[in-house]
Amino acid sequence: MSKKTAVVAGGAGFIGSHLCEALVEDGYKVICLDNLGTGKLENLKGIIKNKNFKFIKHDVRKPIKVSGQVHYVFHLASYASPPYYQTKSIETLMTNSLGTLNILELSRVKKAKYLITSTSETYGDPKEHPQKETYWGNVNPVGIRSCYDEAKRFAEALTMEYVRKHDLDARIIRIFNTYGPRLQKDDGRVISNFINQCLCQTPLTIYGNGMQTRSFCYISDQIAGLKAAILTEGTKGEVINIGNPDEFTMLEAAKMIKEMTHSESQIVYRPLPDDDPARRKPDITKAKTLLGWEPKVKLREGLTKTIAWFSR
Ligand code: UDP
Repeated sequence: MSKKTAVVAGGAGFIGSHLCEALVEDGYKVICLDNLGTGKLENLKGIIKNKNFKFIKHDVRKPIKVSGQVHYVFHLASYASPPYYQTKSIETLMTNSLGTLNILELSRVKKAKYLITSTSETYGDPKEHPQKETYWGNVNPVGIRSCYDEAKRFAEALTMEYVRKHDLDARIIRIFNTYGPRLQKDDGRVISNFINQCLCQTPLTIYGNGMQTRSFCYISDQIAGLKAAILTEGTKGEVINIGNPDEFTMLEAAKMIKEMTHSESQIVYRPLPDDDPARRKPDITKAKTLLGWEPKVKLREGLTKTIAWFSR
């Protein structure tokens, strides 16, 4: 039987490159589209020469043409870390609007199954805790995070209209803070910052009082969730959280990383950025029941592997 083809938009990024690798390993042909805005060819070095893998430098804000049959389309194209999406704010808005339209069109024309990685940011600074998929969120539509939050909310709305108007076999996955090897070192996210700071013996920067929480999902769990979401029957039109519900304050995360790296770094406090969500934790009941998926990797175990990668 000939191999099925998957297109991964944003496939050279942190999550995208792990997904491309997993799909090639599972026996798919993979076409990776990436404009290398934050993605890196270095992330693909394990598969770039594989005959079942093809990299195309392409910005999804431009129409997409791919030859041959396509069975699956994964849309992971976007700036995703707060410092990056705020610097590239208009690009982020356009990638998630025009880019999403182009990727949906590709999926419609090819009659492919489509998955978009949306985000826990669609819940904004949530008033409901933990966050279920049915929660509509609490988002500042004009704040400094809105270029990402509202862009992703628009991308979700557009995706749902393709399900309703074009009967597209699409699903929306809201991913929660994900970490692991290939997390970009300078992306300004909390896990990469804390690990870098500890390894370089520079101060650990906690924004605000450090009592805000996040729930961190290890990359292998995230990839297993994304694959299950597109391969499981009965997920058309569904919105599903994929994340790890173990919740930590940023102070706890800082102390854990400091201890694990045997670092002498001191903790320093910096102003909390505007609209920084106070709490975040996924309710993953739906992923468990619909996909039979749940995360396996505890934070300490995932950090051990991530710290080893950052130490290379
Ligand atoms: N944060 C921090 N120190 C840092 C970087 C981030 O205390 O050096 C905080 C940030 O204010 C937020 C949390 O850690 O409350 C997670 O931030 P991140 O940028 O990783 O992603 P977010 O979940 O906010 O999108």
